[in-house]
Amino acid sequence: MIEKLKEILSENQIITGDMIGADFCHDEYPGGNFVPAAVVEAGSTEDVAAVLKLCNEEGIPVTVRGAGTGQVGGSVPVKGGIVLSVKGMNQVLGYADGVLKVQPGVLLQDVKAAAEANGMYYPPDPGELTATIGGNVATNAGGPCAVKYGKTADYVVDAVVVLADGTVTSLAGNESVVGSEGTLGVITEVSLKLVDKIGADAILLFPFMDIESAMVGAKAIMAAGYEPAVVELMDTDIVEFAGKVTGNPVFPVEMDGERVGATLMVTIEGTDDDDVMEKMEAIAGLAEEGEIEPLDILVGDTITMKREFWAAHGAFHTAMESGAKGAREINIDVPVDAMAEMIEFAKAAGEENGLMVLLHAHVGSGGMHIHVASNELNKEALAPVFDVFAAAVYAKCAELGGNIVGEYGIGYGKVQYMSEEAKAAQAALKATYDPKGILNPGKLG
Ligand SMILES: Cc1cc2nc3c(=O)[nH]c(=O)nc-3n(C[C@H](O)[C@H](O)[C@H](O)COP(=O)(O)OP(=O)(O)OC[C@H]3O[C@@H](n4cnc5c(N)ncnc54)[C@H](O)[C@@H]3O)c2cc1C
Repeated sequence: MIEKLKEILSENQIITGDMIGADFCHDEYPGGNFVPAAVVEAGSTEDVAAVLKLCNEEGIPVTVRGAGTGQVGGSVPVKGGIVLSVKGMNQVLGYADGVLKVQPGVLLQDVKAAAEANGMYYPPDPGELTATIGGNVATNAGGPCAVKYGKTADYVVDAVVVLADGTVTSLAGNESVVGSEGTLGVITEVSLKLVDKIGADAILLFPFMDIESAMVGAKAIMAAGYEPAVVELMDTDIVEFAGKVTGNPVFPVEMDGERVGATLMVTIEGTDDDDVMEKMEAIAGLAEEGEIEPLDILVGDTITMKREFWAAHGAFHTAMESGAKGAREINIDVPVDAMAEMIEFAKAAGEENGLMVLLHAHVGSGGMHIHVASNELNKEALAPVFDVFAAAVYAKCAELGGNIVGEYGIGYGKVQYMSEEAKAAQAALKATYDPKGILNPGKLG
C-alpha cells in the first residue's frame, strides 16, 4: 500500500513507522493511542482524490485529520489504515460579495482574521481558535454565540467535497457531509458566509441565588427581544474551581455573605455604544420590574473587562485538567426548558458517584459542558466511575429530548451511547456515500 501511495504522491508527503508523531495517534479525547500505518499529508484536492480512490479500491481505512483538537476521538485511526492530514491545506483562497473561500486546514483564528481584514465578521466561535475550519465544518462546531448566530453549518454556503471513491464534487446534494465527522466525505475547500461587523458590544453579568432563578432570568432576557449574542450560564462551582486554579476569580462566588448559585454572562450587541447602552438599560429594567431576580448586575463595557471575562470563561476547561487529580467532560444539547432539570440530575448523579460536577451552558442553543472532577481519583481510577455517570447523563439527555451529539460530535468516544435509530440513520448514509466503509470507520455507529 505504501508503495502504491508513493506512486501518486511525493515521498515527503508520506510518513511511516517511527517517523509518525505521537500527536497523530490521539486527539483531546482521553481514550488512548492508535497508530496508523501511515500519515499522508495532502497538499491539494487532487491529492485527496487520488488517495481516496486508491484506498477505496484497496479497502484501506482513511481517517481525515484537521488540527486534532476534537474531544471525542473523531480524528483518531481506531481501525488502523491511514491518517489523511489536511492541515497543510491552509490557504485563504479569496473573498467576494460576503463570501470567504478557504482551504480546510485554515485555522479558525485565521478565518476570523481574514474576515476582519475584509471588513466583515465570521461569528462561530466554538472556543478553540487553533481548530481548523475543516474540523469545525465536519463537527458543525457551535459555541456560546450560537444563540444568536447559529452553528458552523449556518455559514457554509458551498464546499468542495471528495467522496470515498475519489469523486470530486460540491456541497449541492451532499449536505450531509457537514457535521458527518469525516465519515461521508472529505472537505477540501469551504465557502463561508460572512456578516457585517458588529458596531459595539458589552457584557452584562447577572449573579443569581440558584440555577432555577438563573434559568428563568435567561429565558426572560432572550424573550425580551434584544437578540443577545451570548447567554451563558455558569454554575458557581465551576467559577470557584477555575478561579482558585488560575488565582484570578473574576466571576462572583459570594454576594453579601451568601453563595451565588449561578451567573449569567450576557453579550449585548448594537450599532454603536448608545444603542448598546439603550439595550442594556432595557434588560436591566427587567430586574426593576421583577421579571428577573438577579442579586446584582455587573457591566463589562471596556475591552479589558470583556477580555477578562472571556479569559476567565476560557479557563474553565484547562482548570479542570490542571486543578483536579482526574477530570472528564460530557457535552450534550438539551432543550432550554429542560436545562435546569438536566443540571439537577447531573449534580445528583455526580454526588452519588463521589464526583464534583461543574458546568456551564450556552442557553438558547442548548449546548451544555458538564465537567466531572475528582481530587481522589486519577485518570485511570476515574474512568470506570465516569462511565457510570456518563451513561446516566446520556440516558437522561435522551429522555429530556436532548441530543448526545452536542457540539463535540460522537467520534468513537460516544458511539456506545448512540440510539439504535441514530445508528440506523448513519448506516443508511454510509451505504450511499461510502459503501465500502473506508471513511473514518469505528465512528458514529
Ligand atoms: C479547549 C477546547 C475547547 C473546545 N470547545 C469547543 C466548543 O465549545 N464547541 C465545539 O464545537 N468544539 C469545541 N472543541 C472541540 C474542537 O475544537 C472542535 O471539535 C473542532 O471543530 C475540531 O477541529 P479540528 O481541526 O481540531 O478537527 P479534528 O479534531 O482534527 O477532527 C474532528 C473531526 O472532523 C473530521 N475532519 C477534520 N477535518 C476534516 C475535513 N477537512 N473533511 C472531513 N472531515 C474532517 C475528523 O475526521 C474528525 O472526525 C474544543 C476543543 C478544545 C481543545
